[in-house]
Amino acid sequence: MEFQIALLKGDGIGPEIVDSAVAVLEAVGRKFGHTFHFTPYLAGGCAIDATGVPLPDETVAGCKASDSVLLGAVGGPKWDTLPGNLRPERALLGVRSALGLYTNIRPAKLYPALKSECPLRGDIVDRGVDLVMIRELTGGIYFGERGRRTGKMGEEAYDTECYSVGEVERIARVAFETARKRSKKVTSIDKANVLESSRLWREVVHRVAAEYPDVACSDMLVDNAAMQLVKNPAQFDVVVTSNMFGDILSDESSQITGSIGLLPSASLGESKCGMYEPIHGSAPDIAGQNKANPIATVLSAAMMLRYSFDLEAEARCIEDAIDRVLADGLRTADIVGNTGVKPLSCTEMTDAILARIQ
Ligand code: NAD
Repeated sequence: MEFQIALLKGDGIGPEIVDSAVAVLEAVGRKFGHTFHFTPYLAGGCAIDATGVPLPDETVAGCKASDSVLLGAVGGPKWDTLPGNLRPERALLGVRSALGLYTNIRPAKLYPALKSECPLRGDIVDRGVDLVMIRELTGGIYFGERGRRTGKMGEEAYDTECYSVGEVERIARVAFETARKRSKKVTSIDKANVLESSRLWREVVHRVAAEYPDVACSDMLVDNAAMQLVKNPAQFDVVVTSNMFGDILSDESSQITGSIGLLPSASLGESKCGMYEPIHGSAPDIAGQNKANPIATVLSAAMMLRYSFDLEAEARCIEDAIDRVLADGLRTADIVGNTGVKPLSCTEMTDAILARIQ
């Protein structure tokens, strides 16, 4: 089979980690007889430098014309003082909107070989962590009405959280369908004791849950969820939540697994064309030093094979290679901990993964 992939390498470590994922995809293509065509486009700070805007029209058109999009990361101190609508992060929101990507899927799994990297107590770690966070991506407070005005105590600023029945229904369905392929358990996270938007969220999730009698569904308030994630993460399987709560809780769950450098994500909509990216940022502190952990981006490429191209065996092949690399004790600097192991560079880790694919 042949696939067109738009590459948005972005800024900081973005180019290094996307190059790793491209090498892995090419190896999988050779092994299984597929051809991946890669076309790079500008997005983020590099696009601002070259064109004056974070998401040039050509990039949007290129993404729309592709079968899928692989993104590294955008942003960095160089562009931090730009006004909101010109910041590198606008590129992410722009691609999500242009492709209608309303679902963000972030698996968080603690690898047995990395138990020592988990900051939680041993007995909690022994129960394991293997959850999928499903975050609504194109609604809520990040997209709601915002502004500044004069109030009783001077200038004030506001952002609005707003969800429609349709938006909650479609993300809830993604959660229940995902749960059907796992251990049939959904936890819906909201703040229904305070927020009207959360009360609507809860009502709609319950209505959708009635269509999935084989899946257990429970609600949890977001403040409790933040505690439960560190107290007893093994209780979670599929978690579904709003844009802002998902943003915060998925970063928390990433820390439980040891390093932000390990976790992939997929952003999906109605069509097969999704955007796949590591959950971390552009890591300006290690950019250009060949130190970045490429695993999160390589696993994002595996998610692309699974969700956009329906290539399950090929996705498993990449995930097995990562399992073996870690089980063999190979580590990049972010996951070396107190092992005393000499950390591998980004390219050395990539070569180790490639060696386990061929
Ligand atoms: P970050 O995720 O870039 O880095 C946080 C810490 O994790 C740093 O110490 C970094 O070195 C480390 N780290 C991150 N990825 C790593 C990897 N693959 N291997 C090894 N170590 C890794 O978060 P930040 O420092 O808050 O943000 C830096 C820039 O990235 C900012 O401009 C921010 O806006 C942007 N950002 C972009 C995205 C994205 O493109 N999706 C997401 C988050 C942040």
